[in-house]
Amino acid sequence: MKYETVIGLEVHVELATDSKIFCSCSAHSYGADPNSHVCPACCGMPGMLPVVNKRVVDFGMKAGLMLDCHINRTTTFDKKSYYYPDLPAAYQTTQWFAPVAVNGLVEITTSKGKKNVRIKQIHMEEDAGKLVHDIREDTTHVDFNRTSVPLIEIVSQPDLSSAEEVEAYLERLKTLLRYARVAECEMAHGTMRCDVNLSVRPEGSDKLGVRTEMKNMNSVEAIKRAIEYETARHIDALENGTEELRQETRRWDDIKGKSYAMRSKETAGDYRYFPDPNVMPVVIDDTWFESIKSSLPEFPEVKRARYAEEYGLSEYDAEQLTKSIALCECFEDAFSVCKSAKDAANWMISEVMSILNARQMTYDMLKLNGKALGELILLVSEGKVGRANGKKILGAMFDDPTIAPAAYAEENGLIVSNDTGLIEKVVAEVVASDPKAVADYKGGKEKALMSLFGRCMKQLKGNCDPQMLRTILIDIVNKQ
Ligand code: ZN
Ligand code: MN
Repeated sequence: MKYETVIGLEVHVELATDSKIFCSCSAHSYGADPNSHVCPACCGMPGMLPVVNKRVVDFGMKAGLMLDCHINRTTTFDKKSYYYPDLPAAYQTTQWFAPVAVNGLVEITTSKGKKNVRIKQIHMEEDAGKLVHDIREDTTHVDFNRTSVPLIEIVSQPDLSSAEEVEAYLERLKTLLRYARVAECEMAHGTMRCDVNLSVRPEGSDKLGVRTEMKNMNSVEAIKRAIEYETARHIDALENGTEELRQETRRWDDIKGKSYAMRSKETAGDYRYFPDPNVMPVVIDDTWFESIKSSLPEFPEVKRARYAEEYGLSEYDAEQLTKSIALCECFEDAFSVCKSAKDAANWMISEVMSILNARQMTYDMLKLNGKALGELILLVSEGKVGRANGKKILGAMFDDPTIAPAAYAEENGLIVSNDTGLIEKVVAEVVASDPKAVADYKGGKEKALMSLFGRCMKQLKGNCDPQMLRTILIDIVNKQ
């Protein structure tokens, strides 16, 4: 019999707000001392009242609109029973009855073509803290820094059917949420985590099989391996009766390449959701809704088409630039100053992106001042700074975004000189020092001229118009 895999994902994404979801503690505590970013509210002290962070609702709405959801204009918070010490109130404040966004759609592209994945809902909730197990002391410590850091949980319908589709779906979520600047979505940093619900059924059947869940997966590669393994295990159980499938939560061990039963799966009833009486319903009026709607970015595909159409860029260039919103913004700012889309795209793709790659930075980590890049491009295209020196200045601008390229070039002696006297003097010296190269060139070796050219340019520290240098060099060599 042929089987098909049915997969639904619950993706937790940490929102990029400054403060936590219900108090004013900073949401960013990476590398900080344990329990240094806490207050009575996020520690669940009796009598403390949570206040909803408006930015969290802004970001929840943005995420919902990016994923083509309906926004619930009255959205409420609920308590979910949670009996672990990393959430000291013994419940998680989340959304159950009226989540911020419902009924969305995400289009993915795989080797089999395009497919729509339905989004059941997006709800806002607080993260839990961190338990630190100390084996030597046989104790467990708890760090509340991450407690109440805002999350959205994106729940898909079981519309995915392979590891490839899951990968494409996660990539698409990442791109859209990063475009809207609501989240970093970096699995390696824990700002995107994924629960995989999987079952298997005979191909063509419309009944769902027994479902298992693997929680807190944090790498796409591990998710892909886990899906392959679970699919094979389910099919083996159905086909050969190797084991009885049960609805349960399983732990994926990526080193052993196996999943293990952890606990029988809770159902919604086990969580005993009830409306949180301490958090007021959030009512999203038309003004608020429209302001969020109008703040949404162009979708990547729309931007790509516009770059090709409006700026006359090639398909390839347009695709490269629209890989990240940070690249797009830098490019658009550079273009607004230098007025040449072709130049701006060239600098972005051949220089800026290669520095990012060399420094192992993601495109979204770009902090370059785009307007200053535009000024630099002008300096080079107008021949005021040599291309090689332009690259040097760009490197400095990466390290210090406040650098103004013209002033920096001036201060560091990187301005092209039109002093023909100086150029002739340098060329004469270099030519005189290498009669063999001169003879080779005259004997028909074009390469010999390039080597003389390179040495002259070096002597002039790159501050010379290449065309002018070439003319003077040929002139002097021919006179020898
Ligand atoms: Zn707090
Ligand atoms: Mn959750």
